Amino acid sequence: MLLADRVVVITGGGRGIGRAIAELFYREGARVAIASRNTKNLQTVSMALNSGDHRIVPFRCDVSSRDEVEVMIGNVVEVWDRIDILVNNAGTGGMTPIAPADEPGADEAVEKRWLEILSTNLTGAYYCTREAVRHMPSGGTGRILNVSSVLGKFGVPGYAAYCASKHGLIGFTKALALELAPRAITVNAICPGWVDTDMARQGVEESARRLGVTPEEFRRQAEGRVPLGRFIAPEEVARLALFLASEAGAGITGQSINLDGGAAMW
Ligand code: NAP
Repeated sequence: MLLADRVVVITGGGRGIGRAIAELFYREGARVAIASRNTKNLQTVSMALNSGDHRIVPFRCDVSSRDEVEVMIGNVVEVWDRIDILVNNAGTGGMTPIAPADEPGADEAVEKRWLEILSTNLTGAYYCTREAVRHMPSGGTGRILNVSSVLGKFGVPGYAAYCASKHGLIGFTKALALELAPRAITVNAICPGWVDTDMARQGVEESARRLGVTPEEFRRQAEGRVPLGRFIAPEEVARLALFLASEAGAGITGQSINLDGGAAMW
């Protein structure tokens, strides 16, 4: 029970990496708020896990909406009085080519995507952090985990908005770690490579289409570029998150830690 009685907010906790973190943190004794737009997914997770003690509670919230974030954090605090750990995991991806195909409306479509990616991945993390920090204790249990990406360490052509948001999240992590150090709140970024989730499946399909290969072939190529030769499982990201969120992680702050089978070594 590494997180007994800790109050945790996990954005995007209804599926993928967020769900894996929610499940592990719940098993480790935490009280877990999962927040995203799709209430059906959230309810599925809370119903699957809850053993009658209501230690996992779903909250509908679009993190790109300041008002919805304020209401969500307010509701969590009403239920559990404080927030010890915030996991900024909600994220969205997709291509945003700077010179899209010469079709009517192409620039507008890319610009809309650009704004969605930045307002979810970066501004959403800012809103959630700002609201959560007001309710975080200064006694050494406070943790902020930002799920960035190896695309916060290097670029990929066609993914400027996603790369900008994930690089931005690492800058946010470093500055905030210094700002919150006097309150003993640690702030770290996790930088996964390919993780087996809906987002990766969409990325594989999109890239395969663009390159004119099958998704299976693209995945083989992608795995071939990873030194350990495979995608990461969501549960592996959850275990790193648990380490950073627990007492063991108390001395680590301002770091951006790769979990990518060796794809990036800086
Ligand atoms: P996923 O399966 O697509 O899950 C994305 C999660 O974010 C969902 O729970 C989604 O819930 C939530 N979300 C998206 N937009 C939201 C919004 N506006 N407000 C609230 N919640 C929102 O993807 P994943 O792979 O688990 O991704 C989790 C995080 O890991 C993301 O930040 C992603 O960038 C990062 N990451 C993923 C990979 C990978 O290969 N999979 C690699 C590196 C980093 P709703 O749809 O219910 O809102």
